[in-house]
Amino acid sequence: MRAAIFDGPGAIRLADVPAPSPAAGEALVRVRAAGLCAGDLYIFTGKNPYVTYPRIGCHEIAGVVEALGPGTEGPPPGTRVVVDPFIGCGTCYPCRVGKRNCCANLTIVGVHREGGFADLVAAPVTNLDPVPEGLSDFEAAFAEPVAIGVQGCRRGEVGAEDTVLVLGAGPIGLALVEVARSRGAKVYATDLAPERLATAADLGATPVEGGDGLIERVLDLTGGEGMPVVMEATGAPAAMESTIDLVASGGRIVILGLVRKGQGITLPGLDFTRKEVTILGSRASVDCFPEALDLIASGAIRYPGIANAFDLSEAPEVFARLAGNPMALHKAVFVTEET
Ligand SMILES: [Zn+2]
Ligand SMILES: [Zn+2]
Repeated sequence: MRAAIFDGPGAIRLADVPAPSPAAGEALVRVRAAGLCAGDLYIFTGKNPYVTYPRIGCHEIAGVVEALGPGTEGPPPGTRVVVDPFIGCGTCYPCRVGKRNCCANLTIVGVHREGGFADLVAAPVTNLDPVPEGLSDFEAAFAEPVAIGVQGCRRGEVGAEDTVLVLGAGPIGLALVEVARSRGAKVYATDLAPERLATAADLGATPVEGGDGLIERVLDLTGGEGMPVVMEATGAPAAMESTIDLVASGGRIVILGLVRKGQGITLPGLDFTRKEVTILGSRASVDCFPEALDLIASGAIRYPGIANAFDLSEAPEVFARLAGNPMALHKAVFVTEET
């Protein structure tokens, strides 16, 4: 089969490699659409600490079941599916309480095992979700990033009565904007880059200029109260530290951004009590794919409309282009068939 393989930092090549054979409990999936995520770009640039090379990347996969592993019951060949890339061990504490996204022995498709930048990929049948009727493979490949927005909104219990501020208008921030809007919330977004902020505005957020003076602007917008829900999707320590000043008393902070390992952040301790603030981490997603797929199918998620489709053979040049300028494309999806 064809595959795009990361050989090491800065090295990606197209190759003909043997197809994976699905183990018991797994399905072999013919990839029809494979989204390129910042995580893949980090594998290419050598900034993903968890990956080992060589590796076939991609954890945003839509396709069709081709075969099942020995003795395996699962969706029959021909079923259109997306692959939830987070595979838990099933025995550790987070797995026991239904949080395999935080598994102590986590395996991620496209990071710890071969992913979807290939004609075929193997994955546990329990990690497959059926694609709703009428949704294209290209759109279905957005299930994973949209699911991250669903997880963040579930963690923050975002509802129609809420006003939400999203910090950062990258792909995760944009997913939060759209999922929060679909729940009826009033959504503000901020970013240092005007072009990203313009995209957030296109997707329905009210833009707020980022940088110096943000806290004052947000207090002005909310009559001095602060935002009921603040969602952090920049990973910048200063932005993370600002959440406690941006949030209203009694409000919720949801942290999705990733700071560098070992990076500390400082929060004024008195505000935990004074504001009775709730601070929640939110990691990837768990059991959010069905809701994400329904949202995409309903038309509530417009982000796929600004993404670009490429053939897998173009992967080396697309990665080189994005390594030079991560903002060169909103989002790239490799499609292997007209969808
Ligand atoms: Zn992703
Ligand atoms: Zn586990």
